[in-house]
Amino acid sequence: MISLYVHLPFCRSRCIYCDFYSTTLQGDVMARYVDALERECQQRLDGKDNIYKCTRVHTIYIGGGTPSLLPPDLLQRLFDFVGKSFSIAPDAEVTVEANPDDISRQWLQSLKETPVNRISMGVQTFSNPLLRFLSRRHDAQQAISAVRLCQEAGYGNVSIDLIYGLPGQTMSQWQSDVEQALSLGITHLSAYSLTFEEGTRLDTMLRKGLVEEADEELSRQMYHFLMSATEKAGFQHYEISNFAKPGFHSRHNSCYWQGTPYLGLGAGAHSYDGERTRRANLPDIKAYIAASADVPHETEVLSDSELYDEFIMTRLRTAVGIPLSELPLQDRNYCLAAAEPHLSNGRLCLRDDHLCLTKQGIFTSNDIISDLMK
Ligand code: SF4
Repeated sequence: MISLYVHLPFCRSRCIYCDFYSTTLQGDVMARYVDALERECQQRLDGKDNIYKCTRVHTIYIGGGTPSLLPPDLLQRLFDFVGKSFSIAPDAEVTVEANPDDISRQWLQSLKETPVNRISMGVQTFSNPLLRFLSRRHDAQQAISAVRLCQEAGYGNVSIDLIYGLPGQTMSQWQSDVEQALSLGITHLSAYSLTFEEGTRLDTMLRKGLVEEADEELSRQMYHFLMSATEKAGFQHYEISNFAKPGFHSRHNSCYWQGTPYLGLGAGAHSYDGERTRRANLPDIKAYIAASADVPHETEVLSDSELYDEFIMTRLRTAVGIPLSELPLQDRNYCLAAAEPHLSNGRLCLRDDHLCLTKQGIFTSNDIISDLMK
């Protein structure tokens, strides 16, 4: 079983905090990009990457950028060649990312022609001043209406992304963001603490002293509120930043955290063979479209210690934790010795031979993860 990721790097405008690869180019570049995606798909299946061939695809994720900007006929073409190239499991989870302002009855109607069964929506906040500050194109009412339109159209599996720790964001604004999200009948919530990524406009503002990072204690309280509100609403906290109603964990993202193979198509997309080879397509749409043979990319073969570090980093973020039995004996001993202080102070616990973060440990997860790494 593999997962398939397709990157659609188109945005109408750039949000000030975002460092995902995307371009504001539009028009016929989209059709040429879909042609190039099909070409890459074929080349990857024909080439030495053909470990992906004959394997069932159990999750598909169309991410971006803003996939909801792609005209419906192009989205349909994309799914046509994906359907011809892979054997897709009948119960596959098929997600498309969408911005609230692109969601309309017509768009949802066109989505019915595709296998999409899950919509992931970048809402970020329901505060209009904060949305404007972030240069988001939608307002709070559009986000609320978009979720309802999806549900009315039969897309009950809707995930929302929120961000906390925004400059100037108060505790009460964050509480109403979480409460508003949970009141919408969504199945999944991803909530990320704002990071100031190098090269973004927000980072430049920080360096110029125009904005300040959120107070650490306030961010901690916001996360605490998020955990308790989602728990009361019946959500499972299955990864540090992810919460889901039972049965609605993101199967696609879980494959990243469980180290299973995935094929990434598109400019800037990443792939992993499930063993030790990672591949990153270069984030350059013009070079991607122009490539007649192999698209520009870099590969990396992970060393034993890099594999160990990734294993620790990804597994400890999940509620399942680190399955110690999957580590070679030497690594298991190393991990347990490094974990000892955190087991003693109650930040880590052992459950069925899995090393897990406790509720207390989750607040210092980055420090714990770095202590366990080599
Ligand atoms: S957050 Fe989404 S819409 Fe905004 S620039 Fe990034 S990819 Fe585009």
